[in-house]
Amino acid sequence: MGQRIELLPEHVANQIAAGEVVQRPASVVKELLENALDAGASEIQLIVREGGKTLIQVVDNGSGMDRKDAELSILRHATSKIRQAADLFQIHTMGFRGEALASIAAIAHLEMQTRNGNDDLGTHLKIAGGILESVSETVVPRGTSIQVKNLFFNVPARRNFLKSTKIEYRHVLEEFQRVALAHPGISFKLFHNDSELFNVPESNLRRRIGHLFGKRMNDRLVPVEEETQVVKIDGFICKPEFAKKSRGNQFFFVNNRYIKSPYLHHAVMNAYEGLLRPDTVPGYFIFLQVPADSIDINIHPTKTEIKFENEQSLYAILRAAVKHSLGQFNIRPVLDFEADQNLETPYNLRDRSAPVPQVEVDRNFNPFLEAGSPSALRKNYTRGSGNSWTALYDGLGEGEYQEGAKTHWIVESDAPPEALFDEDALDSLTEITSFQVDRKYILTRVKSGLLLIDQQRAHQRVLYEQFLENISLKEPVSQTLLFPMKLPFDPAELEMLNEMYDSLKALGFAIEKGAEGEVTISALPVLIPDAEVGTILEELLTNWRQQLGAEGYSDADRMARLLSRALSIRPGRILDTASRQALINDLFACKEPDRSPFNKKIHATLEVGELEKKLQ
Ligand code: ADP
Ligand code: MG
Repeated sequence: MGQRIELLPEHVANQIAAGEVVQRPASVVKELLENALDAGASEIQLIVREGGKTLIQVVDNGSGMDRKDAELSILRHATSKIRQAADLFQIHTMGFRGEALASIAAIAHLEMQTRNGNDDLGTHLKIAGGILESVSETVVPRGTSIQVKNLFFNVPARRNFLKSTKIEYRHVLEEFQRVALAHPGISFKLFHNDSELFNVPESNLRRRIGHLFGKRMNDRLVPVEEETQVVKIDGFICKPEFAKKSRGNQFFFVNNRYIKSPYLHHAVMNAYEGLLRPDTVPGYFIFLQVPADSIDINIHPTKTEIKFENEQSLYAILRAAVKHSLGQFNIRPVLDFEADQNLETPYNLRDRSAPVPQVEVDRNFNPFLEAGSPSALRKNYTRGSGNSWTALYDGLGEGEYQEGAKTHWIVESDAPPEALFDEDALDSLTEITSFQVDRKYILTRVKSGLLLIDQQRAHQRVLYEQFLENISLKEPVSQTLLFPMKLPFDPAELEMLNEMYDSLKALGFAIEKGAEGEVTISALPVLIPDAEVGTILEELLTNWRQQLGAEGYSDADRMARLLSRALSIRPGRILDTASRQALINDLFACKEPDRSPFNKKIHATLEVGELEKKLQ
C-alpha cells in the first residue's frame, strides 16, 4: 500500500513544537517576560494563579502592536527580530525564533490585548488551541497584555505531568527572579493567587537583590569587578559565612541572559576555597559581558546552557576576580567565625531588649515521682526546665567537634574503671553505665551484650515523637516569649512560611507577619531553645524547599522530621553521664526506638557470643 505524505495542519505542527518550548508554566513566563523586555517596556507585571497552571498573564507598557502584527505574532516563525539567517549569529534581543507565541497559543487559551503608540484603538485577540476565535477593537493603554489560561488543556498527557501548585510556583518565581535581576532598571510586580508578592521599583543591582531576596542581603554582599579584553565581569558575591547548605541564589548572566554553568560555578567555588564551612555554597550574582560572536547560545529554546570560545581564560579571570574581592573586603577565614560572631549576627537581634534574668523554678517537680524513672525524665524534658535533658543543649559549642582535632575512640566515661566489672550496677535500670565512642555513639551494657546507639539518630527519634505528640494535642504546648522576636525573611521565604503556617501553629509556634518582610514570633514549641529559633527556621526553610518532592507525609509530619533533624545533637558533641542516661531512657520510651525518623538504624547489639568469637 502506498503511503501519502501530507503536511500537518499548522496548529498541529505548532502543538508538536510547543512540546519543546513549553515544558511547564515557568516556560511561558520566561517567553512572555522576554517579549515584554524586547518591546522596551519599563513596567512589567506578572500575574499567575495556581502556580501558572490556570493563569499566566504578563502586562507591559512597551511598544505594543497594530492589528496586523498582533495577528501575525501568533503564527509560527513570525518574528520582528530576525530578518535573515545571518542575523542568527548576532543576537542581542532575547527571543529570536518567532515560535513562542505560536507554540503557547497551540496548547492553551490565549488572549492578547495590545495597542501601539500610533493607534487610538487597540486589538483584542482570542485563540484556543491554535485556532483564532475572535479579533476585535478595544480601548487599552499602550503596551501589551497577554493572558494564557488552562495550559495543556488539549494535551492531557502533559497536563498530568504538571506538579503541585507549590512546585510550579517555585519555578515561576525563579524565572521571575532571573529576569528581574538582569533588569534592575525596569520595575516589576508579581501577583500569585491575587496577592502581590513582589513590587520591585526601578533601581540598581544591589538594591534589586535586596528587594528580591530580603533586606538582610545588603550586609552580606561584596562587589566583584574585573575588565579584560576577553570579558567584563561585575556583580556581587556573598560573604562566605552566609553560604548555605543547599544551592539557591547562584546566578550567572552572560550578556544579560541567565545561564547555568557548572564550569564557571566551579571557578567561583575554587576562589572561596578554605573560607567555607563544609558542604555550603555561597550565593552570587555575577554578570559577564563577552563579545556576541565568542559564545554559542544553545539553539534549543529551553536550554540555559552556553558555550564559550575562551572557556579556560574565563575560568581563570573569574576565579581571580572573586578571590580579589574576597581578599579586598577582608573576608575572615573560617576559623575566626566563632570569635567574631557578635559583630555580624545574621539576624537583627540588636533591636531586642535585654532579657530579664529568669528565676528557674521546676514547676514539674513532683516529689511522688521516682527520680530517674523514665516517665519523670520525660516530663521534665518536654517542659524544658533545668533537668538532665536540657543538659543536652547546655554548653552548646563547648565540646563542639573541631575539624582536624584528635578523636579518641573512647572519649570519656564518668564511671571509674572498676565499675565496669560491677555486675549489679550494670544491670540496674536506674544507673546506666555508658561510654561515648568517637563522640558519636553511646555504648552501654544490656543483658545480651553491648548496645551501641547512634546519639544523633536516637535524639532525632525522641524529638520527632515529642513533636508528633505535641501536634496531636488540641493546644500544643508552647512557651510564650517575654519579648517577641522579630526576624527578617525574604519574600520567597515569607511565601514558604505562609505555606507552612498551619503546621507551624500545630507545633506550637505563634507567628505573625509584620511590616516589610519581618515576622514576629511570640511563642515557640518548648523543645526549641529561643536563641536558636532563627537558625532553626532558616534550616527548616532550606530543607522544606528540597523536601517538596517527598510526598506521602502530612506537612506537620514532615516538619516534625525536619525539626528533629535541626535540633538533634550532632556527632562531635560530648554528652555527660546524665545526658547519656536520659537519652537512653527516652529512646526506649519511644514508640519506635529502632529507626530514626529518616529510617536509619538507631542501635545495634554486639552479642556476647560475637564478642567471645572475636577473642578466640
Ligand atoms: P520572538 O520573540 O522569538 O520574535 P514570539 O513568538 O515570542 O517570537 O513573538 C512573536 C512576535 O510578536 C515578536 O517578534 C514581536 O514582534 C511580537 N510580540 C510578542 N510579544 C510582544 C509584546 N509584549 N510587545 C510587543 N510585541 C510583541
Ligand atoms: Mg519571544
